[in-house]
Amino acid sequence: MEATGGDELEAVKKYFNTSGFERWNKIYGETDEVNKVQLDIRQGHAQTVDKVLKWFDEEGGLQGASVADCGCGTGSLAIPLALRGANVSASDISSSMASEAARRYEAAKGAEPKGNAVFEAKDLESVTGRYDTVTCIDVMIHYPQDKADAMISHLASLSDRRLVVSFAPKTPYYSVLKRIGELFPGPSKATRAYLHAEEDVEAALNRAGFKVTKREMTATSFYFSRLLEAVRS
Ligand code: SAM
Repeated sequence: MEATGGDELEAVKKYFNTSGFERWNKIYGETDEVNKVQLDIRQGHAQTVDKVLKWFDEEGGLQGASVADCGCGTGSLAIPLALRGANVSASDISSSMASEAARRYEAAKGAEPKGNAVFEAKDLESVTGRYDTVTCIDVMIHYPQDKADAMISHLASLSDRRLVVSFAPKTPYYSVLKRIGELFPGPSKATRAYLHAEEDVEAALNRAGFKVTKREMTATSFYFSRLLEAVRS
């Protein structure tokens, strides 16, 4: 298991307030100014978001339910949830991300919004309160397993009912891909990427009193993300 050096939080925060914001704001947007790799990641990520929304829609939606979206980025999940009627408390360690998400929500919500979303610059470890559903999509990739374990434990403490998390799965195939990627690092890869074994993530969820109820996988050429829904057992 990879252990934390302890300084990931500050490094990740700095990255997502500077060059990381530029890069991911483009990827999570609609402009044509993306290269082929970024377009592939945009499409893969959109599939993950669609899968989460489909899960919620299939069980009748989250109208009126409280949701904490931790590490919300530019609001790719938080905004459609609010537009569907959920009361979303979204937060991100990067103030640039949280401000951009708020801007996008204002532009999207229309005159009579069904739900509501508020966006805050805050690391997920500092989020408080209780929510029906807690989501944390594609955030753990920035942290080693011991830190991810602590994150899951905290996210679980915020959730009355359900937790939805996604992570880059540690399989032999993806481990090789990652090693190759590290041999030829691109200029935009300013943070380390960590893969997580599904059994480690599931064990952390179980320790926190949650049981996995749904699993999905999204894999395109450059994007891969394992998605788990867990409910209080
Ligand atoms: N969840 C969003 C989505 O799927 O569109 C964004 C995913 S993006 C790859 C990772 C996001 O996690 C960035 O916006 C980053 O600033 C945020 N992040 C990283 N570490 C965090 C932490 N400890 N607490 C809160 N947000 C964090």
